[in-house]
Amino acid sequence: MNGAGHSPGRNTIRSIVQKRVYIKTYGCTYNEGDSRKLAAVLERQGCTLVSRPEEADAIVVNTCTVVGATERKVLKHLRALRTCPLYVTGCMATVQRDAILSACDPVFIHPGEIHAAYAEEGDVPAGPVGIVQVCQGCRGSCSYCITRMARGPLVSADTGAILGEVRALVRNGAVEIRLTGQDVSAWGTDIGSHLGALLQEISGVPGVFRVRVGMMNPATLSPIQETVAGAFSGEKIFKFLHLPVQSGSDTVLERMGRGYTKSEVLAIVERFRAYCPGISLHTDLICGYPGETDEEFCETLDLLSRMQPDKVNVTRYSPRPQTPAAREKDMPDRFKKERSRVLLTCAEKIAKSRNAAWVSREVPVLITEVLRPGSAMGRTQYYQGVVVKGDLTPGNVRMVRLTEDRTYYFIGELV
Ligand code: SF4
Repeated sequence: MNGAGHSPGRNTIRSIVQKRVYIKTYGCTYNEGDSRKLAAVLERQGCTLVSRPEEADAIVVNTCTVVGATERKVLKHLRALRTCPLYVTGCMATVQRDAILSACDPVFIHPGEIHAAYAEEGDVPAGPVGIVQVCQGCRGSCSYCITRMARGPLVSADTGAILGEVRALVRNGAVEIRLTGQDVSAWGTDIGSHLGALLQEISGVPGVFRVRVGMMNPATLSPIQETVAGAFSGEKIFKFLHLPVQSGSDTVLERMGRGYTKSEVLAIVERFRAYCPGISLHTDLICGYPGETDEEFCETLDLLSRMQPDKVNVTRYSPRPQTPAAREKDMPDRFKKERSRVLLTCAEKIAKSRNAAWVSREVPVLITEVLRPGSAMGRTQYYQGVVVKGDLTPGNVRMVRLTEDRTYYFIGELV
């Protein structure tokens, strides 16, 4: 059996006992959540997690295949791995086994097996940053997306389980909670609830922590934008909106099967900026989607200048196996290269001009991580990253003067 239909068996993970294990994770926060759950289970089985493959008796590679470049990187890595027991999990292990078997001869671990083992015997991970997987899969049918085949239809965790995980992570030292899923704003639509209600509940959990809400598809966020934007104005929620829009052209969005329009995206942005002035806005754009004309590309540039995002993740379109878009005529790479250069230049110019307004301001910063002795990372309420000198403790809120802009984070000094 292979692919998404494989029913989770628990013996594969149970066979990894008393070993030194190296886990390499590719991809998104959700995948990082899977790796942390696996690590928690393995530690219960007497394993030690090591930070270098050379030290390991067993290696786990948690794969991602969202774009062609990542697939190539994963396969190159698998080919290079030395011959110790090798386990492969993640999205690629679910939908591209043959490609993996062309590179190596691993034992496959279905992601569902990790969740089942963790639910049975995993200790909640400790540390300043906690990950909560609120839902798996999505309601979308985006024509370019292979992730939905790997992760399947939407399955939301119930509110009680999520609150239990948040409480346990906070007890174990978490000061930043990252809510993650393939589409976080789809959460609850399969269990008679919605994200706005969940955020209100999480905001009621005692403790010093802040919540980063993961990526939300405008199609599922639009109907609940009022309640979610309202919940975002609460103290416990970082004023950080990750809204992957992919294109600014309604005709491209239609061909992608995204389920929203440019004006709906702008309405959502306006709504969140009304509830949370100064909110950080991150987005994702695909350039060079099959058939994208110059006019359609200009629509994306126009959206960018009207959205004024703080950060943009630009991806050159790459056909993913088994997706409808892969049947379309692909655009020559030189056009994609040029369009991504234009988008990145525009995005960085916007980020720099927005950041300029923050330099020399004094702001409260929640310390979230010790980078090394004498240096720590913190987050403003807008989730801006700030590197601060000093022996600082995660969970403390310190007044910091932002002294230097490094485009996607700031350097700061204690006031
Ligand atoms: S919402 Fe679309 S892009 Fe996101 S995981 Fe689902 S199908 Fe893929």
